[in-house]
Amino acid sequence: MAVSPLVSPSASAIAHRKNDATGASVTAQKNEASPQFVQHAADREITEQMNDEVRHKYIKTKKLGEGTYAVVFLGHLRTDPSSFVAIKKIKVNTEYRDGLSMDAIREVKYLQELSHPNVIALHDVFSSKDQNLNLILEYLPRGDLEMLIKDSNIHYGVPDIKAWMGMLVRGVWFCHENFVLHRDIKPNNLLIASDGEVKLADFGLARSFADPYLNMTHQVITRWYRPPELLYGARQYSGVVDIWSTGMVFAELLLRVPFVAGNSDLDQVTKICEAFGTPTEENWPGVSKLPNYVPADRNHLMPTQGREFFLRQFPTAGPVGADLLMSMCTLDPRKRSTAYQALQHNWWTTEPRPTNKEDLPRKSGGTKKMGDDLTRRGGELDDDQFKNAARQLDFTAMRE
Ligand code: AMP
Repeated sequence: MAVSPLVSPSASAIAHRKNDATGASVTAQKNEASPQFVQHAADREITEQMNDEVRHKYIKTKKLGEGTYAVVFLGHLRTDPSSFVAIKKIKVNTEYRDGLSMDAIREVKYLQELSHPNVIALHDVFSSKDQNLNLILEYLPRGDLEMLIKDSNIHYGVPDIKAWMGMLVRGVWFCHENFVLHRDIKPNNLLIASDGEVKLADFGLARSFADPYLNMTHQVITRWYRPPELLYGARQYSGVVDIWSTGMVFAELLLRVPFVAGNSDLDQVTKICEAFGTPTEENWPGVSKLPNYVPADRNHLMPTQGREFFLRQFPTAGPVGADLLMSMCTLDPRKRSTAYQALQHNWWTTEPRPTNKEDLPRKSGGTKKMGDDLTRRGGELDDDQFKNAARQLDFTAMRE
């Protein structure tokens, strides 16, 4: 029988280790008779039985995709082949303690705590015969927002963006209400359910932020979606790091290309300064104390951008939409909107109304809508460079 990585080492393994270490099989036999040993073995048996029951509930079928730390399969309930699930099989990695990556541990820890229509549901967890951890996730068959943004055959308009953004901000708000930071919001982590609902997925970099004075790593969030405070090395931060990323997704939905796409951390800071203004003590008190802050050349300061800039840059958003975007992309994190404030913005209730989720444009094979079109701009970035940029470029060694 396979030993679950979620349970303590087996009774036989303990006895075996004792034999190896001391050669005293008598000791092992004596321990085997001890009440603690018997209890331990019984607990283990129950846990393994429960693990087997969960494992037998599902049947794995075809491969859906592969990430850096997991392979995702389509599956269904053994008792109901029409009840689909996604089975995320975590790759065993000897580099990690107990073979489990921190990403997997985080994903289980936080998804178990969160239940909301805009957060992917974790139904079950079990370990397979080969000791791999398997997460049974809600199956989200309609791809992700990145696919929609990049597919030039798909036409969408402001009502669709308002619907997608509403679902995203509600999901982010719920995470923050529960003191969970996602820390990797980007279009390809926003998966779409069969009814059109957008769900926040991939909690591999998430963490809790209940203690505001606890130091956290700044090496999180895919670079193009990373806020300036993290690029400057801030170790204490709040939910508004996710709001910056959410604002970048909003901008990208409007433009159909990433808005601030640096090719290094330094280039990202430069591009943020060019786009939104140079952070200084005047517009962001305390910024110069951040560890990686580079004092700006006083002769080349970019002015902080206001409403006119956002409206000029994002005309399709309209003045109210541009105002919401501006509030999400404010340089000083203390002045940036929280998820709660973003949800109270009057853009959501201003015309046009958001599209009903069932009527939203879908990836090829579905209905394609013609609205006030937002077509792709020239000079697009290389697909491979865009795909999973954070994990590939920056965070493979992230532990915190
Ligand atoms: P990940 O390791 O989470 O990036 O997943 C790798 C790929 O598997 C994704 O790009 C999707 O194509 C697919 N995938 C992941 N989770 C799901 C899901 N819940 N439902 C359907 N497809 C998924």
